[in-house]
Amino acid sequence: MSGKRLSRRRVLRAGATALGGGAVALAGNAGAGAAPAQAPAIATGTQTGRTFRGLVRHDATLDVQEMRLLPIDPRQVVIRSLAVAPCYTIVRGALGTNAIRRAEVPNHCGFGVVEAVGPMVKRVQVGDRVVVAGTSQCGQCYQCLHGRPDYCQFTFFSNAPGVEPFAPFAQFRDGTPVYAQAGIGGMSEIMTAFEEYCVPVFTDLPAAQLTLLGDQLASGFAAGHADMVFQPGSDVVVFGAGPVGLGAVQAARVMGAGQVIVVDPIKYRREFAMKMGATFTLDATAEGDGIVERIRELCRGPNDRRFAGGVSWGRAANAVISRGADFVVEAAGLQTLPPKVEPQPDPANVKTVLHAWDCTRAGGHVMLMGFTLQPVPFPGASLALFGRTIHPGQQGGLHVMRDIPRYVKLIEKGKIDAQSVITKRYTLDQSRQAVQDTADRTIITGVIEFS
Ligand SMILES: [Zn+2]
Ligand SMILES: [Zn+2]
Repeated sequence: MSGKRLSRRRVLRAGATALGGGAVALAGNAGAGAAPAQAPAIATGTQTGRTFRGLVRHDATLDVQEMRLLPIDPRQVVIRSLAVAPCYTIVRGALGTNAIRRAEVPNHCGFGVVEAVGPMVKRVQVGDRVVVAGTSQCGQCYQCLHGRPDYCQFTFFSNAPGVEPFAPFAQFRDGTPVYAQAGIGGMSEIMTAFEEYCVPVFTDLPAAQLTLLGDQLASGFAAGHADMVFQPGSDVVVFGAGPVGLGAVQAARVMGAGQVIVVDPIKYRREFAMKMGATFTLDATAEGDGIVERIRELCRGPNDRRFAGGVSWGRAANAVISRGADFVVEAAGLQTLPPKVEPQPDPANVKTVLHAWDCTRAGGHVMLMGFTLQPVPFPGASLALFGRTIHPGQQGGLHVMRDIPRYVKLIEKGKIDAQSVITKRYTLDQSRQAVQDTADRTIITGVIEFS
């Protein structure tokens, strides 16, 4: 027991620091005096000590462990998980076999039912079903006030070097603290998220579909209408037919794109993209560097008479730059582990980013969603002169409180197909396999359903 007390003290210290780190968001909150009246019957800490299970990366392994819940912050929410889809960005860290310094529940999104709230929480109530999104929207930080909640400072706040941004939310039986990745986790029966990440949804849609709105599907769909906006009849190109890229394909379909060209080395994903709204697919491996001219040809249009609205097709450089797609989404990303299906021809993703840029017409728009860890050499004169707008791909420009409720309606109306992109379902005990299958790319999206 003394180990537990020691750990609690450590937890409280870390918790105070985390709160300090989030002070930007806190400072603007409504008067504390108003909070108690709105607080529901279950107050902070009443669930402390509750035991639950979850997938944990600890020591040199990843397995399902039993944990005990620690006290929550006054602005945190206790959520009983219903469903979660592991994101490809977590697979390398989660499946690694190196010994790590702290235990952590992987992932950065989820879906569940609110079971308790801290006394300062206003956005959600006990009983609400909530999407826990990968990005917060506090509504009060500098970024939120300037129309960029996709860069909400509650998500992108800085902390003192060496200080954990979020306190641990649970502990093992022996008192070892357990953290949630990005302060969210998601692959455990209980999550404790700050309310800024929680989006209540009022619908009867199944949890397995709604959990896709916390990250992959929502981010991909946002790519076509949140910051970068696909125009009806336009040429759209999507690199990568994974869960994110397919969200962009669906956005192109819903927004009425003229043609939707999908590039992916994996055959089953290209075939699946056609069912989601692609009008043409290209094999990234077979096309190689010729992909750019191939796409330009596909976007050539029915005539090259510039006075008749056609794309000029002369040989001079100033004619070449006007060729290409109106909107391009790079959602191929880094290949962090070798897949069991066709590998990416460009695992570092540097060339793919340049291909995406190059096949965008002058004055067109390109969104870079996939990570590239190496420098990408853009020709400076082209950056200045070609008039291509680069949009940042962080969650596709998603404003979680504005957009997730919209996407719920679009799923209800059958406009967004969230059902078909779920290729496999797992129990918590099979959750490690869900991460492995995500890494192997043998599935589009795997969903872990909690019983
Ligand atoms: Zn993610
Ligand atoms: Zn904010």
